[in-house]
Amino acid sequence: MPVPAPDTRDIDFAAVVDFVTAATAPHIGAGKVADYIPDLGRVDPNQFGFAVATVDGAVHTAGDADVRFAIESISKMFTLALVLSRDDGSLWQRVHREPSGEPFNSLIQLEIEQGIPRNPFINPGAIVVTDHLHTLTGNAYDAVRTLLRDETGNPDLHADGVTHGSEAYSGDRNRALAYLMADFGNLRNPVPVALDHYFRQCSIMITCTELARAGLLLARRGRRADGTRLISADDARRITAIMTTCGTYDEAGEFAYRVGLPCKSGVGGGLLAVVPGRCAVAAWGPGLDPKGNSVAGAVALETFAAVSGCSLF
Ligand code: GLN
Repeated sequence: MPVPAPDTRDIDFAAVVDFVTAATAPHIGAGKVADYIPDLGRVDPNQFGFAVATVDGAVHTAGDADVRFAIESISKMFTLALVLSRDDGSLWQRVHREPSGEPFNSLIQLEIEQGIPRNPFINPGAIVVTDHLHTLTGNAYDAVRTLLRDETGNPDLHADGVTHGSEAYSGDRNRALAYLMADFGNLRNPVPVALDHYFRQCSIMITCTELARAGLLLARRGRRADGTRLISADDARRITAIMTTCGTYDEAGEFAYRVGLPCKSGVGGGLLAVVPGRCAVAAWGPGLDPKGNSVAGAVALETFAAVSGCSLF
């Protein structure tokens, strides 16, 4: 029998957040901002935000928890949830569920594996999910923006025009991935359409406080902020499983070892972790490690898991 993990009511989250803040302080500014997208390259690396939202409605924050940053690949867990909420399972004929062991924008595996991406969280997999969502809804960006508006409680949440332009300007590698998949017959919409919605969803500006609130969708095992159900508890469990194995790309093994929670990262420096049944934890530090994951954010989540006892393992 596994040892039962502590109930959130037994955790002093305010003390945990203080401890995380102190432990992360020496790492703020470490790493390199994602300058392959010019607009992200201009972000001040000396910022750090942290927020924990619990399923009973409390939110604990520290530092720059209310500063906006580009959500980037963290959007991919929400587009996946939206597709699973409406799909008959056909998505899984278009994308696998295995870790890639390759960088998130690698082309090599995609060619060898005939245009079927390894998982929904690397770029080609996420482009397929957005393409699928666009076919299901008629407007993939609007669907994910609406979901995030509802779950964060911020009716103004939107993509930043400059970031979106910067994503498109520097997006040749994503174009290469998308055209390769189109050649294999794995895109349903024209490449420019699928990519435009993908670039927009990545450019949504969000704060740690909002991200933690949105992450509760999975912590509540598929239930939305208003109490209705978006996805089944089984699909919520499956998304968190894929976050654990693929959410931080070719560093997912290291994150399982260090943090031991389902995590999803973005090159804006955000990291979102989910503790099923308990809370969602957002950390933000713009400096990235060579695999594209926030350096300070990883330290914060590692400390959070160790101090709260919330690690899954
Ligand atoms: N928009 C980024 C890209 O397409 C997202 C990558 C990420 O956050 N890992 O490269």
